Amino acid sequence: AVNRYVARNPRSAAAADDAARAMPGGNTRSSLFHRPFPLRMAQGAGCRLRDVDGHDYIDLLGEFTSGIAGHSPEPILTAIRDALADGINLSAHNMLEARLAAGLCARFPSIDLIRFANSGTEANLMALATARAFTGRHKVVVFENAYHGGLLAFGPGGLRVAVPHDYAILPYNDKDAAESYFARHGAEVAAVLVEPMLGAGGCVPGDPEFLSLLARLARHHEAILIFDEVQTSRLSAGGRQALLGMTPDMTTIGKYFGGGLAFGAFGGRADLMAQYDPRQAGALMHAGTFNNNTLAMAAGLAALEHVVTPDALDRINALGDAMRGSLNALFAEQGAPFHVTGLGSIMNIHPVPATGAEAGLLRDLIFFDLLERGFFIASRGLIALSVPIGPAEMSAFADAVRDILIARRGVLGQ
Ligand code: PMP
Repeated sequence: AVNRYVARNPRSAAAADDAARAMPGGNTRSSLFHRPFPLRMAQGAGCRLRDVDGHDYIDLLGEFTSGIAGHSPEPILTAIRDALADGINLSAHNMLEARLAAGLCARFPSIDLIRFANSGTEANLMALATARAFTGRHKVVVFENAYHGGLLAFGPGGLRVAVPHDYAILPYNDKDAAESYFARHGAEVAAVLVEPMLGAGGCVPGDPEFLSLLARLARHHEAILIFDEVQTSRLSAGGRQALLGMTPDMTTIGKYFGGGLAFGAFGGRADLMAQYDPRQAGALMHAGTFNNNTLAMAAGLAALEHVVTPDALDRINALGDAMRGSLNALFAEQGAPFHVTGLGSIMNIHPVPATGAEAGLLRDLIFFDLLERGFFIASRGLIALSVPIGPAEMSAFADAVRDILIARRGVLGQ
């Protein structure tokens, strides 16, 4: 399959070679890389993509969850064009930022006040800074295989880069480990930063009891609980926190709430966020040039009001739940060594067992076979549905997976 991939994609191959002359490995975004070289896309429309060699795909990756609106959502394109016509940036506040802020505060139970940044990474860095300033403490509790951005990654695999904090990296979904850590160090903990579902860590849902234990421990020890909902904010109108009935002290979001442009935001309890009120003496500084950039504000507002609506989220989450169920049923029926984890519209196909050389081969097999049949997912198996996807794409995908399992019967040892 890899040989056919190379033969089918000469332009992507040449572009990858070319890119490697100016960027290490031809790459400026590690998550996109896979061997032998990743595809170059030329165009996207709705939930479809066309690569530079002219192949068409149904995009089931959805820009690693951030492309929930699809590639050409008319309300967002119009909002960007309108904002552009008024000037790219205005050297001042614009009339969009407060509307986007109000809309997001209304959606997320835990967000009384919010501030904007340029990425989810930055939002998480700011949330940690907020918690440290508020508590005067320095320890930061994070979890194995958590991904909070390029500068806050604790797995999976590979050597990671993390902005230095005094981290305690605890096992995810392990209540005993959290309890015993807090029993020893609770008074030193500034923040607990947690994804309600591990995203890059393989779509591992946080156990509701584990998450509420974290909330209890944080409250008891006066540490700040931060939910990183950069991915899980799409699981309902109010994110996973609304589904769980939880109100963390702070929440970080990003991705689609910038309508597809560079965006991040951190928000939470009014007393925490009031530290940034510039009317106060000694206010904390948070002053990025592009924090209120007009294009992202316009795109985000259009996304919030017209595309990533509560109804649209409910629809794709239901579609995702159904698809996860039918894929797992298919794998079981065919005795194929795969299973799917996730919640709602976000999921990950995993080989069984999940690690080792064999796992790598299985992951490659399903990835390259799906590409050949016109379905674009992440090489690591991530799937994130977007609003333009409907039941027709879902059933075509299920058929493709079935075909692959049957065609590969010998290799898969079923
Ligand atoms: N947190 C989570 C849970 C994420 O999945 C990501 C991005 N994949 C980030 C933070 C970082 O966001 P960004 O890439 O915008 O920095």
